[in-house]
Amino acid sequence: MRPIAYSRATAVSDAVTAVTADPDSAYLAGGTTEIDLLRLHVLTPGRLVDINALPLTGIDETPGGGLTIGATARMSDVAASPAVRTRFPLLAQALEQGASAQLRHMATMGGNLLQRTRCGYYRDVESPCNKRRPGSGCGALRGVNRGHAVLGTSDHCIATHPSDAAVALTALDALVHTRTGRGEGSYHIDDFFLLPGDTPHREFPLEHGELITAIEIPDTPTARTSTYLKIRDRESYEFALVSVAATLTLERGRISGVRLALGGVATTPWRARRAERLLLGAAADRRAFAEAAREEMADATPTPMNAFKVELAQRAVVRALESLT
Ligand SMILES: Cc1cc2nc3c(=O)[nH]c(=O)nc-3n(C[C@H](O)[C@H](O)[C@H](O)COP(=O)(O)OP(=O)(O)OC[C@H]3O[C@@H](n4cnc5c(N)ncnc54)[C@H](O)[C@@H]3O)c2cc1C
Repeated sequence: MRPIAYSRATAVSDAVTAVTADPDSAYLAGGTTEIDLLRLHVLTPGRLVDINALPLTGIDETPGGGLTIGATARMSDVAASPAVRTRFPLLAQALEQGASAQLRHMATMGGNLLQRTRCGYYRDVESPCNKRRPGSGCGALRGVNRGHAVLGTSDHCIATHPSDAAVALTALDALVHTRTGRGEGSYHIDDFFLLPGDTPHREFPLEHGELITAIEIPDTPTARTSTYLKIRDRESYEFALVSVAATLTLERGRISGVRLALGGVATTPWRARRAERLLLGAAADRRAFAEAAREEMADATPTPMNAFKVELAQRAVVRALESLT
């Protein structure tokens, strides 16, 4: 048994002050990642500051026509929001295909972005893992790596980021708003998830005590025609082998707007910008979709066990885009 101090903050400034002051502390939101990893001794905070009573649950219009989603809004509430469902269907679909109904009622949007990889070597404290214990090695490189990444990998880590919602938010160019003791800040979602490189233990740019307060989705009229396609080993309650978040608009049969992000294949949610560039202005047909998908996956570095993901991702991109035409 390890004693853990617990407190519940009711003001954002109090929460930030409490965690910033104690390097051995962490925030507790829905607890669906934090408590799991605590039980496995992967995370070992001496103090938990509960943020569930903070006034951060709103889903509000922004003056620019977008939406701001509070950090402690529950996955299920966001997925059920009429504004999200009509304007950003890909996000509602990504949330509904994540975890289980019970988990979605507990889990928050901020915690969702900060959930940790499901890599078995990370979650097993007896195994080497550069993400959990820098310099200890990577058990997955030559181990069981069927579910691991083929893009954005390094010699130190090939773990995927598991969030579905983060993939949809990547396609939507979301902003992550935060608060530190010094004031407010924000990150474009592209800068929020760090590639492993030779520092895989640094997964996010946040400093200790930095609290996510909200996620902002800019006005994106094209997102009304969007989809989230998730391919997994079983139809529900399972993480993605490959997923695709896509928006598509056409003018006279040609692609006038496209956003693509991939999940399950990379060490971070993966914006498929190379494919987007190829698709813009192209005919909206299977040939163009397949060529763009092939180009996006051209730099993949698969292992013998996860090589199937390269073709699966290409097929999933084609299927997602075809479903929008
Ligand atoms: C069995 C199972 C299946 C799952 N399947 C899926 C799936 O298919 N798809 C998917 O996307 N997810 C899945 N998940 C993950 C789930 O979505 C996350 O566990 C959940 O979103 C985390 O949110 P939480 O509020 O519970 O975070 P917590 O567990 O409370 O926190 C997670 C981390 O974020 C930190 N934190 C939380 N909120 C903040 C904040 N506002 N600011 C700064 N730090 C913060 C905590 O300190 C902690 O380190 C699954 C989880 C489980 C247990």
